Amino acid sequence: MNSMNMLKENIRIAETAKIGKFSKKDIVLFEKVKKAINNKIKVPCTGCGYCQPCPAGVDIPGVFRCYNVCYTDHYFTGMREYLMCTTMRAKPSNASLCKKCGKCEKKCPQSIHIRKELQCVTKYMENPIYKFISFVSKKCFDKCYD
Ligand code: SF4
Ligand code: SF4
Repeated sequence: MNSMNMLKENIRIAETAKIGKFSKKDIVLFEKVKKAINNKIKVPCTGCGYCQPCPAGVDIPGVFRCYNVCYTDHYFTGMREYLMCTTMRAKPSNASLCKKCGKCEKKCPQSIHIRKELQCVTKYMENPIYKFISFVSKKCFDKCYD
């Protein structure tokens, strides 16, 4: 939800929705949309957070969420979220910080090959522009915390 109008619309729908309101056609359409979105998801991370904390500081669920947004929405949307989620904070938490210790993988209920996927994220997301913005952010935070 990005605006007050969207919020109002959601409240209106929630107030009128009743059990059994969906027709068979609605359910088929809903399943089709769900399948189309799921097919685009790169990493089946549920965001449960059991893999956290990472000793190297990687925000594993946050990183995978942004990576998936690149495929389910748009590359720039995912990249913007990745920048905000991994660099606009006192301590960076991006994929390439991974030290490949493997601790997280033992705790993941989805059996995700986290180390391998983080390498894919690094390759896809951490381009020169990302590195430059990350560098500037770090300088700003260092100055603030001096
Ligand atoms: S393998 Fe990487 S992401 Fe997983 S806990 Fe170790 S350093 Fe963190
Ligand atoms: S434990 Fe697995 S599914 Fe849960 S947040 Fe971590 S990577 Fe995602």
